[in-house]
Amino acid sequence: MIPGSFSYHRPSSVQEAVGLLAKLGDDGRALAGGHSLIPMMKLRLAEPAHLVDLAGIADLKGIRSDGNDIVIGAMTTQHDLIGSDLLGAKIPLLRETSLQIADPQVRYVGTLGGNVANGDPGNDMPAVMLCLGATYHLTGKGGERRVPAREFYQGAYFTALEAGDVLTAVRIPVPPAGHGSAYEKLKRKIGDYATAAAAVVLTMSGGKVVTCSIGLTNVAETPLWAEEAAKILTGSTLDAATVKKAVAAAEAITAPASDARGPAHYRTKMAGVMLTRALARAKAKARG
Ligand SMILES: Cc1cc2nc3c(=O)[nH]c(=O)nc-3n(C[C@H](O)[C@H](O)[C@H](O)COP(=O)(O)OP(=O)(O)OC[C@H]3O[C@@H](n4cnc5c(N)ncnc54)[C@H](O)[C@@H]3O)c2cc1C
Repeated sequence: MIPGSFSYHRPSSVQEAVGLLAKLGDDGRALAGGHSLIPMMKLRLAEPAHLVDLAGIADLKGIRSDGNDIVIGAMTTQHDLIGSDLLGAKIPLLRETSLQIADPQVRYVGTLGGNVANGDPGNDMPAVMLCLGATYHLTGKGGERRVPAREFYQGAYFTALEAGDVLTAVRIPVPPAGHGSAYEKLKRKIGDYATAAAAVVLTMSGGKVVTCSIGLTNVAETPLWAEEAAKILTGSTLDAATVKKAVAAAEAITAPASDARGPAHYRTKMAGVMLTRALARAKAKARG
């Protein structure tokens, strides 16, 4: 339960952090809230010789509007997301999801950037970012680049982050006014990671679905974007037969592990149950 020894660095700019991480290579790791990384270090599943703490970089914090997007600095905490009036008005799904992560103590320190950069399929925010069509801002040796969340996740703990990269911000297009959204998460107890979870954002007109997007958490090595299921629902009234068909399509793309949260078949079925509930709640919230 005691991590290996490491050197601690506290840069005050993104450029300084990128320079350090690029120089340290595999020996260095970015440190955000530490609430995934430090437990991994205590278990000796990660043994970085150098930690580059991003906490002293003011540019990495904050939530702002930029045209039709909201841009959230990577070091913004889950607690900050919950308290943001701007997000509450424009993207309430983020508040709802944050409230289902761990407990207040973890949320005071755990950051949005750490949650999405970590690559743990159990983290809640990645599937929500796929659902919302978010883009990640990365800065590395070669300068800045933007990677869609839907292309970022490559396997458990494997992402598009390259050695020396810092994720600086998450850019989210604001869903249309009157949209409905929901995040349904099955967990064994308060503070637990998901057995399965589903995020939904949809718009409706004349009682029919106009647009729909679905993300699934912890039912594969990566978060999943259930594109086919959303296509099935588009144009429907979310009647029971169509929802059943869409749920079957979503279940078909899952490949969960059998673990302490249940056997694979159970977790796949729970993803379907979470999706059915999220669709019903999103529909109830949508106008039109
Ligand atoms: C008891 C407990 C329960 C939890 N339950 C949940 C839960 O239900 N759902 C959930 O989603 N999470 C849960 N978490 C995890 C928590 O949300 C973490 O805070 C989060 O996953 C990681 O954020 P962090 O800021 O702590 O990142 P860190 O732990 O500091 O970093 C995580 C990883 O991301 C990298 N990284 C961090 N920031 C950046 C960046 N800006 N650029 C590049 N790389 C970066 C680090 O190098 C590291 O590899 C739980 C944690 C604990 C301790």
